[in-house]
Amino acid sequence: MKYVIFIPDGSSDYPVDELDGKTPLMVANTPNIDKLAKMGYGGFTNNVPDQYTPGSDVANMSIFGYNPADYYTGRGPLEAGSEGIPTTPKDVIFRCNTIYSENDEMDDFNAGHITTPEADELMKGLNEYFNEKYPDFKGKFYTGVSYRHLFIYSCDSVEDAEILSGIKTMPPHDISGEKLVDNLFGDCELVEEFHKIMFEAKEYLQDHEVNQKREIPANMIWLWGQGVTPSLPNFEETYGITASVITGVDLLKGIGNFAGMNIVTVPGATGYFDTDYKAKGEYGIEALKETDLLLIHIEAPDEAGHAQNTEEKVKAIERIDEFIVGPIIESLEGQEFRGAILPDHPTPISVGTHTRDNVPIIIFDSERDGDECESFDEEGVKKGSLEFKEGHLLVQRLIDGDF
Ligand SMILES: [Zn+2]
Repeated sequence: MKYVIFIPDGSSDYPVDELDGKTPLMVANTPNIDKLAKMGYGGFTNNVPDQYTPGSDVANMSIFGYNPADYYTGRGPLEAGSEGIPTTPKDVIFRCNTIYSENDEMDDFNAGHITTPEADELMKGLNEYFNEKYPDFKGKFYTGVSYRHLFIYSCDSVEDAEILSGIKTMPPHDISGEKLVDNLFGDCELVEEFHKIMFEAKEYLQDHEVNQKREIPANMIWLWGQGVTPSLPNFEETYGITASVITGVDLLKGIGNFAGMNIVTVPGATGYFDTDYKAKGEYGIEALKETDLLLIHIEAPDEAGHAQNTEEKVKAIERIDEFIVGPIIESLEGQEFRGAILPDHPTPISVGTHTRDNVPIIIFDSERDGDECESFDEEGVKKGSLEFKEGHLLVQRLIDGDF
């Protein structure tokens, strides 16, 4: 039996005026996904336990088969896991965005989608700057992809690390246009140092050579999503099947790494509109020859939701259908397979960020006839027969045929 889970990130939505009250999933031309809907079962699910904000990290941890309530420690640690950066129990791993801030507001949480080589120069420069200024500086910057980087801070004790890990910090994409001082984290002694680091970084970054050439300069950093290193049980030992992950996003690679999954690196997978959909589809076909389950995640619809760009969101869904879902399902013909398609969370155009609403899901099985559901969208799945169950149970449901 082969298993495949398609994750078009943030693809579900609210009705959009521009689309005559329909949603991007409803208007997108998706013959291959429609086929899955007709052969499968429709319904709703939710990947975000109540106590969490609906981040892609929490939501995808559910889809990957791990209950966030048991295993989630923060977003930063998952991304460190994707880089294979060794950490100790005293380390707190922060996400570090390169941002653009004028007048102490959050003007652009991704600094105009800065390129990785440019950001790498800034991260290296920040390490030099802080180490020179403070010889016993306990933090280190690590370059990630585009605007998504890491800052690892070594606390004096495991207790301090646990306390710091539990402090609420603000995702920069949720505070666009807001004053930075209104969104700093806590005011206990432990966190003051991090506020200082963010504002001091600005002194160094604003005149940096890289920024003089950029239309939208990466003139500050924002630290958030911190946590200690998580311990996920091995996927194969837990579920008895092997799994591969394809994604352009570090934090999902991190979940996969901690779970002992096979991480497939696809050239041209950028985690943005311009991602190479065709390459992802081709690498997906190959991955399914090697492992039982493929988790294939596409970030583009989420980015379009954040950008409130309806046209790009519809286009992203259509490309996923044509270059990823179509070829992968075709390659499975003649074999027994089961799978699902679902977003991790909605990223509605009208909101411009993630919401915690239930998401539509289709579960399909090559050996079974489906229900009345004929399309994968917010209205269509209402005709389906799937019983609501929490997102982290999906993998087990697929293996058990429990749908
Ligand atoms: Zn997401």
